[in-house]
Amino acid sequence: PVVLGIESSCDETGAGVVRGGRLLGHALASSMDEHARYGGVVPEIAARAHVQALRPVVREALDDAGLGFADVGAVAVTTGPGLAGALQVGLAGGKGLAYALGVPLYGVHHLAGHVAADTLAHGPLPDPCVVLIVSGGHTSLLLVRDLVRSPIAHLGDTLDDAAGECFDKVARVFGLPHPGGPAVDRAARTGNPRAVAFPRPLAGSPDHPYDFSFSGLKTAAARWAEGHAGRALPTADGAASLQEAVADVLTRKAVAACAEHGVGTLVVVGGVAANSRVRSLAEERCRAAGITLRVPPLRLCTDNGAMIAAVGDLLVRSGAEPAPLDLSVDPSAPLEYAALHPVGAR
Ligand code: ATP
Ligand code: MG
Ligand code: FE
Repeated sequence: PVVLGIESSCDETGAGVVRGGRLLGHALASSMDEHARYGGVVPEIAARAHVQALRPVVREALDDAGLGFADVGAVAVTTGPGLAGALQVGLAGGKGLAYALGVPLYGVHHLAGHVAADTLAHGPLPDPCVVLIVSGGHTSLLLVRDLVRSPIAHLGDTLDDAAGECFDKVARVFGLPHPGGPAVDRAARTGNPRAVAFPRPLAGSPDHPYDFSFSGLKTAAARWAEGHAGRALPTADGAASLQEAVADVLTRKAVAACAEHGVGTLVVVGGVAANSRVRSLAEERCRAAGITLRVPPLRLCTDNGAMIAAVGDLLVRSGAEPAPLDLSVDPSAPLEYAALHPVGAR
């Protein structure tokens, strides 16, 4: 069946159409610009923007696929984690559509969506694979077996800030625009990654071999910027050095996890997987270690509806139980299973 996926956990309203592992169409709207002057996403503004964007975005995704509502065989929607009000808008829309069309509804974990995004570009995930998920709110190293059937094992997580959060907050201190990640990436192009010796938090920690910590790095970058009070800030050097520190810790631990667990494939997903240095260093280190690297194309790294449809499609094809219509959002859902109602929940 054709699966329509809906994403509304943060400031992106996304819809995607997937059948049999193939992306047929997608559309995306963002309220990013409306948040820019506040320096971060304002939940109420995001929720209102979803209300406005949801119908046109769903319509556009179906148009893009050359399909109509009558062709939709299942609806998948993000139920968490994310902003409560923003999630509610997408879930209400998804429920309404599923009910009106008489098709099953699936509640999808947003982070499983990030993981599944890669399958739209590179096909089914090998079992097992190590997944580095690096986004605005999360940073985890996972051991993934069957994404929709098996529990997801966490090899490590961030103990404080997420990598994306570190980029976003440091960008603000550097005077770069919101969202900070892409701005740091751009600024870093002309900078020297060895200009500032920023720390590599938990890099060699025996107690936390696969955990991350980015709040100390954030503070170090802020201190460095403050140290230039009254003088011009060499932003490009700071950005390049910050990016190098983040990419170094992320890829070092991810490759070590593959080696220790005898896993031949590393998958890097989430918004920070769009970072040019994270991508190039992951490539370099995986090649040296004989590990196959998979990273989705840029537009599938950041939030989108296609990735939610991708999980829905996997659920449908695995014979998962659809969700009841009284399904609710879970703004802080832990990543244990890809769906709220996993295949033969165990
Ligand atoms: P989560 O998925 O954890 O709920 P989110 O959905 O807000 O959070 P994503 O959309 O996956 O996060 O990613 C957004 C994050 O990715 C932001 O922190 C943004 O700054 C970061 N990001 C996007 N592009 C880049 C880039 N080129 N370099 C570094 N960071 C980037
Ligand atoms: Mg976003
Ligand atoms: Fe996300």
